[in-house]
Amino acid sequence: MKTMEEVLQDWEAVIGLEIHCELTKLQTKMFCGCKLEFGAEPNTHTCPVCLGMPGALPVPNKGAIENIVLAGLATNCDIEKHTMFYRKGYMYPDMAKNFQTTQGPKAFCMRGWLDLNVDGRGAQERLFWQDLAEGETAENITRTADGYVAHVGITRIHMEEDAGKMVHIGGGEGRITGATHSLVDYNRAGTPLMELVTEPDLRTPEEARLFMQKLRQIFLTLGISDCSMEEGSLRADGNISLRRRGTTEFGTKTEMKNINSFKALHDALAYEICRQAEVLEEGGQIYQETRHWDPSKKHTVVMRVKETADDYRMFPDPDLAPYDLSDEFIERVRGMLPELPDQKAARFAADYGLSAYDARHLVDHRFSADFFEAACAAAGDRAGELAKPLANLTLNDITAYVNANEGIDFATTPLTPERAVQLVSLLAADEISSKQAKEVFAAVLEEDKDPHAIVEERGMKQVSDTGAIEAVINEVLAANPDKVEQYKGGKTGLIGFFVGQCMKAMKGQGNPKLINEMLAKKLG
Ligand code: ADP
Ligand code: ZN
Ligand code: MG
Repeated sequence: MKTMEEVLQDWEAVIGLEIHCELTKLQTKMFCGCKLEFGAEPNTHTCPVCLGMPGALPVPNKGAIENIVLAGLATNCDIEKHTMFYRKGYMYPDMAKNFQTTQGPKAFCMRGWLDLNVDGRGAQERLFWQDLAEGETAENITRTADGYVAHVGITRIHMEEDAGKMVHIGGGEGRITGATHSLVDYNRAGTPLMELVTEPDLRTPEEARLFMQKLRQIFLTLGISDCSMEEGSLRADGNISLRRRGTTEFGTKTEMKNINSFKALHDALAYEICRQAEVLEEGGQIYQETRHWDPSKKHTVVMRVKETADDYRMFPDPDLAPYDLSDEFIERVRGMLPELPDQKAARFAADYGLSAYDARHLVDHRFSADFFEAACAAAGDRAGELAKPLANLTLNDITAYVNANEGIDFATTPLTPERAVQLVSLLAADEISSKQAKEVFAAVLEEDKDPHAIVEERGMKQVSDTGAIEAVINEVLAANPDKVEQYKGGKTGLIGFFVGQCMKAMKGQGNPKLINEMLAKKLG
């Protein structure tokens, strides 16, 4: 199989996502008063409504409608005031009602969009953006200083309910194949579930990954869901097709269901690009089918082929009155919107003079945005001056540490915002070198002590006393008269040798910048 880079020279990928998000922050289910709780004893949170008993009447959860309107406003959607619930035929034991309550042609949220900032290595997956001048637009992208912005349409966000959970016994790995019997847990049945559908505007696996990541950050900020991909409260279906570069018609798509990590989403789409290209280049045909991504085998396998259009027998639910949302309701929800990641990034750039790149990446994660902000607060009057080194510390050392220690809550580590300020102050005042700063960073986390104390204990202080440095320089030059002659004769590369000798004499604690400057002056 060709690599994705090779394939994308000739083919363009067209990708659209369907993202499901459970509203886990609500107390109760979508249409009944049963408690929402992940991991409870099976079938302890059920009632006649979520078990689909005849005659049991649903009552919509008002909090869920608030949540979805929040989600819509945060993703630039139009809020549809007149809308209703439908019944969608669904015959499977994990849904006792034999239908799913969902929305019809009009969802609460329609026609939204998000702008994705793509930079770094991920930007290389898309071709031709480098031909654009900064600020220039082509198709749905605009070139930026460090990559491009992709404008991605959101078709709709609708409200529905989750199904229960099947547990298959006796088969391998809990699968239905080979199982002797199956159990069903209805605790999850009726969980409020939002489904967001994107336009087919994504063109690379990286863009799909970034979209999902950005959406997760927004939902977390809104406080409407845990968005745990592991526990399944956030999951994506990836739709993908290929078309020859230069053509405009869409090809036949395949759909990968229930992808539960960012990496899996990226890798499944990348694999599918290669697989589809191979089929098409050999004169074969892509079937519209649902495929399953197997992360351990790193390939997709077919689950089911879509032969005809699904007929779900959708009809308006006679038990649920149509909605007529008022302007007051929508405005009240708008008033509940917190500061969103993009707004936060703009504020970081404006208030602290950070680059757009640094500001953007600080808000990629909650821990980094929160830590940076807490550290700037701890810096007080010196926030302006220390913001850039604090941003560097957060984006480099802290992010690397968090990535290396999965699941860690950085706010609980010994590196408090105050200690971060101490650390970058030592560096900014040239009291320690950047190499020593890395050592201090690691030591604070390991020994739970102040940076000052560590520097003191380890005798790490960088010597920036010009008198002391000058004395060392004089000694070094006096000891190497021949090299001084050579330097003066044009071998200026010897500066490195002199700096090295000075550093050695100072046991690595001399300020390299000062030594360099003073040596150059003395020799020149
Ligand atoms: P379906 O009828 O299979 O549910 P939809 O038209 O509802 O398909 O689209 C489902 C998702 O697939 C959307 O995110 C949409 O953007 C995406 N999509 C639609 N057509 C294509 C295509 N040809 N290639 C890739 N993605 C597509
Ligand atoms: Zn119930
Ligand atoms: Mg569809």
